[in-house]
Amino acid sequence: MDLFEHQAKELFAEYGVPVPQGKVAHTPEEAREIAEGFAATGTARVVVKAQVKTGGRGKAGGVKVADGPADAEEKARQILGMDIKGHTVHKVLVEEASDIAEEYYFSFLLDRANRTFLSIASAEGGMEIEEVAHTNPEAVAKVAVDALAGVDAAAAAEIVRQARLPEAAAAGAAELIEKLWTVFVKEDATLVEVNPLILTRDGRVVALDGKVTLDDNAEFRQDKHTAFADSSATDPLEARAKEKGLNYVKLDGEVGIIGNGAGLVMSTLDVVAYAGEEFGGVKPANFLDIGGGASAEVMANGLDIILGDPAVKSVFVNVFGGITACDAVANGIVQALELLESRGESVDKPLVVRLDGNNAELGRSILTERNHGAVQQVDTMDGAARRAAELASR
Ligand code: GDP
Ligand code: MN
Repeated sequence: MDLFEHQAKELFAEYGVPVPQGKVAHTPEEAREIAEGFAATGTARVVVKAQVKTGGRGKAGGVKVADGPADAEEKARQILGMDIKGHTVHKVLVEEASDIAEEYYFSFLLDRANRTFLSIASAEGGMEIEEVAHTNPEAVAKVAVDALAGVDAAAAAEIVRQARLPEAAAAGAAELIEKLWTVFVKEDATLVEVNPLILTRDGRVVALDGKVTLDDNAEFRQDKHTAFADSSATDPLEARAKEKGLNYVKLDGEVGIIGNGAGLVMSTLDVVAYAGEEFGGVKPANFLDIGGGASAEVMANGLDIILGDPAVKSVFVNVFGGITACDAVANGIVQALELLESRGESVDKPLVVRLDGNNAELGRSILTERNHGAVQQVDTMDGAARRAAELASR
């Protein structure tokens, strides 16, 4: 799960990482009130920042400095409702403006390729960091972090040295980096990025932006992370699937996909996308893995979610019988259809079913006997994918 900037900064603050004071506003009037609060304490200048889970807000006009409360209201009015790379801005962060002397870059991340953690740091941070990495890679220091050794004061100082941060920022940056490592570990993050990390004109080092990705696999030991969940950004079908304990991801195509086993479902997505090219670019509408022991109820819930997606024109049920044999899955499909129809949901979109593996023959004959109008059987994965794509293109 990715966090909004304001959530990332709330976490940073809990660990003593210096961040500007700020509050979230959902309306221009609220932005004005927050700015009035800062003005009362002698801070007239504020920055109004779009809260969307994508980068490049600055370049898109989603970060604006305001001279006072009235201007903050005006800037918030401009930013709220803005579309930044497909993300609508529903809230803004109103912060005391910082007086920036220099902008640096810093991040900790999981380096999967090298099976370790990595810190990336540069004295040339800010909005052009991608450009710097491209044209001047020596300016970007990459220092591996041993998971067991972690980052102590000495390791943080070494990162700062390799990044060639100026003397004025070195001590503050090292201290901040050490704290960010604690955030990274204690919060089970896979990414903690600060761009820009700034040196202020009065000599402080502050995290001016924050991007944090939390590891969803650690949810079981991170109770307070559920508070970060963003219901407005979750697809309603995904939310329903989650309630039913289904492993479902909505995609933007037309062929609904159900399979047993994550690997099989992933390769099914590829095969359908490939087959769909012939039919004007038909694509998979979702990922849904119903797992090994696919019961009738799980199958019914899965079909229910997929058929409830108006974008779905056909469904491909791709099953490889293993411990749960194909006859059990076929019975599951038959019962699922009955269950749905008894709930008053007509199944009129075509279901292409491919059964292979353990007891495939028996499974196929169960479906043939049931002879449901929506069900078509194709014995090979490629053939079934092609058929489902063809049906979706009609
Ligand atoms: P991003 O573009 O989505 O990464 O948004 P950032 O939070 O990184 O902001 C983009 C740029 O806005 C920063 O690199 C700064 O140059 C500028 N900026 C952000 N906050 C302030 C501030 O408080 N004062 C000033 N002067 N500039 C700011
Ligand atoms: Mn940034």
